[in-house]
Amino acid sequence: MKVISIVVPCYNEEKSLPLFYEAVVKVAEEMKKDAEFEFVFVNDGSKDGTLNALRKLAHQDERVHYLSFSRNFGKEAAMFAGLEKASGDYVTTMDADLQDPPSLLKKMFSILEEGEYDCVATRSTNRKGYSFFRKLFTRWFYALIGKMSKTEMVPGARDFRLMTRQMVDAVLSMREYNRYTKGLFSFVGFDTCWIEFQLEERVAGKTNFNLRKLFAYAIEGIVAFSTTPLVLAGIIGLFFCFIAAILILVIIVKTLIWGDPVDGWPSLVCILFFLGGIQLFCTGIIGEYLAKTYLETKHRPIYIVKETEDSYREKKHEKERGTEE
Ligand code: UDP
Ligand code: MG
Repeated sequence: MKVISIVVPCYNEEKSLPLFYEAVVKVAEEMKKDAEFEFVFVNDGSKDGTLNALRKLAHQDERVHYLSFSRNFGKEAAMFAGLEKASGDYVTTMDADLQDPPSLLKKMFSILEEGEYDCVATRSTNRKGYSFFRKLFTRWFYALIGKMSKTEMVPGARDFRLMTRQMVDAVLSMREYNRYTKGLFSFVGFDTCWIEFQLEERVAGKTNFNLRKLFAYAIEGIVAFSTTPLVLAGIIGLFFCFIAAILILVIIVKTLIWGDPVDGWPSLVCILFFLGGIQLFCTGIIGEYLAKTYLETKHRPIYIVKETEDSYREKKHEKERGTEE
């Protein structure tokens, strides 16, 4: 019988966790003839009672495993940690807020079982529950990165996908620090079947991604999967050299014909400011790549674990033994 591992990054999901667990257990029950389930929850440094909720779940259900980080490392790091811990034949990553419907797992599983595909990925046809600006921003981002990157980025793609062990191992073999998982999934290749679904609003709690975080995430994606901005800086430079050459010619000819009256100071200042701006912009782009390279060369761990269900159990036992003596 195949084992399906469900990896769930959780940040302040105290309220959604029990609902999520209940919903997936229901699906597991329906699929019990075909597959066994394993849960890998990753507590990404939550500030609410998420860890306690996870301890409780792990206590009552031995299929539940969890990792608890020493601080908030971000969803990408949490997914990586979960994928590393997962031991199933098929592995899926799901949000804890039930925006990814567990009922789809049945369909995804049966597609993989046919053997033609290595991965069943989902994309949402709508963005219910997200603000107008977020929708606009997302649309622009996908248009931009679609032009810039050779790695295909599917608009509306969720991180919710069921993958074979082989594909998971491929994703795990990329140990980069700046992880843009949507890109990594696409980068490893393999045959992916896309299915669509209607996105629901999150069941409880609120979104962890504000526009600032989302912007940083977008820059991460672009820098990780495209070097076009660097080339762009070069092209802008070339363009301005060309303009300068024409201007020099015009000025020489003008001076030869009409003499050299000193004027044009305001226009000069404008041009100076403009070019200064462009130069700083290009330096900024280079800086962004340099910064990422710098972080990458430090080889810092992607995440740090503070507690797992095993370490918690041991600690509890020790404490009990301590009180007995
Ligand atoms: N998440 C996380 N670490 C973070 C932010 C989010 O593990 O720093 C998790 C969160 O608990 C949820 C998933 O990532 O399971 C998606 O987050 P959210 O629903 O807030 O994002 P949205 O659906 O609004 O994009
Ligand atoms: Mg969500």
